[in-house]
Amino acid sequence: MSGIDGLPPLREVIATHELSAKKSLGQNFLLDLNLTAKIARQAGDLSGMDVLEIGPGPGGLTRGLLAEGARKVLAIEKDRRCLPALAEIAEAYPGRLEVISGDALEVDPLAHLTPPIAICANLPYNVGTELLVRWLTPAEWPPFWTTLTLMFQREVAERIVAQPGSKAYGRLAVLAQWRAEARIVLSLPPSAFTPPPKVSSAVVHLRALPAPRFPADQAVLERVVAAAFNQRRKMLRAALKGLAPDIEARLEAAGIAPTQRAEQVSLEQFCALARALA
Ligand code: SAM
Repeated sequence: MSGIDGLPPLREVIATHELSAKKSLGQNFLLDLNLTAKIARQAGDLSGMDVLEIGPGPGGLTRGLLAEGARKVLAIEKDRRCLPALAEIAEAYPGRLEVISGDALEVDPLAHLTPPIAICANLPYNVGTELLVRWLTPAEWPPFWTTLTLMFQREVAERIVAQPGSKAYGRLAVLAQWRAEARIVLSLPPSAFTPPPKVSSAVVHLRALPAPRFPADQAVLERVVAAAFNQRRKMLRAALKGLAPDIEARLEAAGIAPTQRAEQVSLEQFCALARALA
């Protein structure tokens, strides 16, 4: 029995249900329930919130979220082998855990959730960035979620919170920081996971802002930022020349020197450029 919920320890769960980790599914499990409860706490006060979890696996973080008081957890898991272990957790927390068996890239979770909604996950590395970009670029803002508390490879976490002038600064930083507050709240060594991955990990906490920091059309901003960072070592007048024949004049109208490189352009300047190009 384990301290936080009376369910068996995770090593036992994995042995009972024969959950040997599959690399193809990005399976690096967290087996320390004190650690998963600590990650759940980074999401803030969960009482009165529904939590969407992607990839619960054997359920370590799921148990952390429930023990920390989430009103309901909706967990989407692709690996059917995990379902019996998750059913045991659902039984221990009647009415508070719903599991959907499927691919998080294909399932629409909204019908199963009631706002306010937090998203908390130890994401599979192969779909983590794609899911984050989807959550950051909905058709309407504010989005369906209030906060995102997500485990990534350290290098991806650094790209999300990066500031201009750093190597990690790029599309993810601009998309994330335009409409959310983003910070790294926890760092984890490979040894925190079973099996240990090759690289370190970090938990990023994002809180959706009620409105974007600076006005801009989302599609135009995305196009500008993608083009600028696709050729990040080029001067912007060259990297962006496909966007408008008079790109130099538009850069200047946005207060950006045409000889600048994407890495030096602030979020505010990117938004000004998106407006100048709209
Ligand atoms: N949350 C567990 C933990 O912290 O120990 C497992 C995390 S493990 C890094 C990622 C989990 O995501 C695995 O359980 C894997 O089966 C699942 N997964 C991988 N791809 C998925 C997808 N497309 N949709 C839903 N789950 C997925």
